[in-house]
Amino acid sequence: MRFVHDSLPQRVCFGPGQAAKYLETEIGSLGASRVMVIASKRDTALVDTITEDLPVTLRHDEVVMHVPVEVAERARNAAAAARADAVVSIGGGSATGLAKAIALTSGLPVIAVPTTYAGSEATAVWGLTEGDKKTTGTDLRVLPKVVVYDATLTLSLPVDMSVASGLNALAHSVDAMWAPNADPINAALAAEGIRALASGLPKVKRDPGDLAGREEALYASYLSAVAFASAGSALHHKICHVLGGKYNLPHAQTHAIVLPYVLAYNEGEAPEAASRIAASFGSNDTSGKTGALDGLQRLRAALGAPRALADYGFTEADIPAAAAAILPAVPPSNPRPVTLGDLEALLRAAWSGADPAGLA
Ligand code: NAD
Repeated sequence: MRFVHDSLPQRVCFGPGQAAKYLETEIGSLGASRVMVIASKRDTALVDTITEDLPVTLRHDEVVMHVPVEVAERARNAAAAARADAVVSIGGGSATGLAKAIALTSGLPVIAVPTTYAGSEATAVWGLTEGDKKTTGTDLRVLPKVVVYDATLTLSLPVDMSVASGLNALAHSVDAMWAPNADPINAALAAEGIRALASGLPKVKRDPGDLAGREEALYASYLSAVAFASAGSALHHKICHVLGGKYNLPHAQTHAIVLPYVLAYNEGEAPEAASRIAASFGSNDTSGKTGALDGLQRLRAALGAPRALADYGFTEADIPAAAAAILPAVPPSNPRPVTLGDLEALLRAAWSGADPAGLA
């Protein structure tokens, strides 16, 4: 075994009902006295409760998915005008993403309080959208110094969104298995991420108030994001990046839909990863042939997962341009070679919701 692995410097505070307490302690440790809180209007009551002991200087509620540059600019100006010395984001990947955009240009420390399973809080990846083009980059300045996981904050996440977001987390783990910097440490984290998501998400589906299921999903989303952050972006993420940026498709649902097609496409050429994924799903078949896809499809069926890109505004006519935009970004490390025709076939299947097994 031979590999080089980077771990990111970050504190994780995990505990149901503990957000207010953790935030007070961690803002104290940072020595911050002028806190900017980012949270959408939806979270107003929640924010009042968990930030009441913080020195809040500014509340900013303009949160938009994929962080349009003009939204980032307004938030940066607001932070500077308020002379904020720390940023606390409370919400899903969109709120975290806006905090990262501020940190990218100001260097302000971020504490993230995630309320979905998107996992952005565990990566040093920032994303900004200008028109129909999404740009991402990696910079340690945007990595939240602290992440506060309080599963009670996810109880209000509707089941459909919980399912889609949980499958977004699952995609981090699956893609980490064959990403450019895949290594045994990432694989171990990803395998446990898949196992805990496959265990937790059905509990959330059965009973959205099941705190134990919510905790499992949140813990798993962190592991999956850490694996993804270290392993890098692979085929699945390259596809979803283009679909999100160019066609403004909803992030979590897009990941949830595309994942089985990428897994079906790669599974046969990546037997070790496929066997590991299958075992994490608890599949009987860990031969590396079809057990991984079977495991994912059983989970998706149990969850009533989103099925077709056509349901979210992607059209058949979009397929050629989308495939052409994805092709140059396909990592050479992908276990199976990818042509323009392959991408068109994959997107066509995902657009219509066809059986992914057809891509194997
Ligand atoms: P989101 O943050 O937009 O949240 C989705 C919806 O759920 C929103 O309407 C939000 O208000 C609502 N919501 C969030 N938490 C809730 C709760 N607890 N109860 C009720 N409603 C709630 O979407 P997301 O899927 O969390 O994040 C997507 C964004 O994150 C995308 O822009 C994506 O690019 C980014 N992202 C970045 C990384 C990274 O590493 N940089 C990783 C994953 C996602």
